[in-house]
Amino acid sequence: MQKRQEKISSKQAIELEARYGAHNYHPLPVVLEKGEGIFLYTLEGERYMDFLAGYGAVNQGHCHPRIVRACVEQAQKLTLTSRAFHSNWLGLAEKALCEFFDYEMSLLMNSGAEANETAIKLVRKWAYQKKGIDPDQAIIVACHGNFHGRTLGVISAATDALTRTDFGPFLPGYQIIPYGDIEALRASLKNPNVAGVWFEPIQGEAGVIFPPKGFLAEASVACQNANVLLMADEVQSGIGRAGKKLACDWEGVRPDVLILGKSLSGGMMPISAVLADTKIMEVFKPGEHGSTFGGNPLASRILIEALAVVEDEKLCENSLVQGERLRKALAPLTTHTWIKEVRGIGLFNAIEMKKDSPVDAYEVCLRLMKKGLLAKPTHETTIRLTPPLVIGAEQIETAARWIHEVFQTVV
Ligand code: PLP
Repeated sequence: MQKRQEKISSKQAIELEARYGAHNYHPLPVVLEKGEGIFLYTLEGERYMDFLAGYGAVNQGHCHPRIVRACVEQAQKLTLTSRAFHSNWLGLAEKALCEFFDYEMSLLMNSGAEANETAIKLVRKWAYQKKGIDPDQAIIVACHGNFHGRTLGVISAATDALTRTDFGPFLPGYQIIPYGDIEALRASLKNPNVAGVWFEPIQGEAGVIFPPKGFLAEASVACQNANVLLMADEVQSGIGRAGKKLACDWEGVRPDVLILGKSLSGGMMPISAVLADTKIMEVFKPGEHGSTFGGNPLASRILIEALAVVEDEKLCENSLVQGERLRKALAPLTTHTWIKEVRGIGLFNAIEMKKDSPVDAYEVCLRLMKKGLLAKPTHETTIRLTPPLVIGAEQIETAARWIHEVFQTVV
């Protein structure tokens, strides 16, 4: 066994990942060792503005001191009981979650994909036990371009070839409709075996795609009329990212099943959750679903603090204000030859380049990195801009200036 080596260079770190890790990501060539607020630092001490925020998992900013304190205190006391026993923190976390998002019950898991799997199981069980659908006939309507994670149950509903190719056979029981198409949704609801409609209020991984205005509200009414559960995956769009607690709040929609993850922990550890009212959540009985780590005392304590930070620091409000500032500062970009659109809501934003641009979005991200800003492309033409919600006005202006400067080099 090789002697433990702690000090390595960025070059060595990248080489080690390439040699010993599966090549399932294509990261920018930057090695980070420290995070603070909206900033990330490399091993060599270079500072970057983080405009990805862990794909929206660090809304409260990196290593938020309050969340770190809660984490350290709890880590020194008790981290895992499993759900075989009670802990003093789980009920408090569930209460905090229910009160924050206005639901009657919650179920804590770990990753976002797991929370989506949980939601699928919940909706299927509800369909058989409450709606009276015949065994194994339940259908969940999902949307074209969706991204709900990487597990098999979830990718069975994916439409993106990269996500699916060579991973079959897939789970049956899905119907796919075009995203944001209310007529297609209404048509799908004519099938009495439809149990749930599963969607992202804003499609993040697809490139920050919005449904037409009014779609969420109309979908909610259509589902209610058909006795079908509305399942909102707000893993990325929720917890202030879109300038409100939930992106669904923009249309006054309260999903029957709410799926959350990412910033529930402020980036400290994987924490996800499904929220619903008792009449739905009560279908789960002991032994039917669970996870060893789901709702552990460490996660529970971190979750309580992470939500309190969102509330106390008015992060939803800041997301709204700084998001508007960012889009205003970037608006002149729309006259650029190679830019198709700058779009967003709150701090959930994207720049979409034209398909025939002389460079792709990855190359633009490399150039942004040289300026001191870390962002990640989604697909070939879209650059997602999702900084931590603690970002200030001056930082937004600087970032916008750098983005303009980089696009001046795209000719
Ligand atoms: N749902 C949405 C909307 C997401 O954006 C993601 C991740 O990006 C997930 C689910 C999956 O979350 P995780 O990577 O924690 O499994």
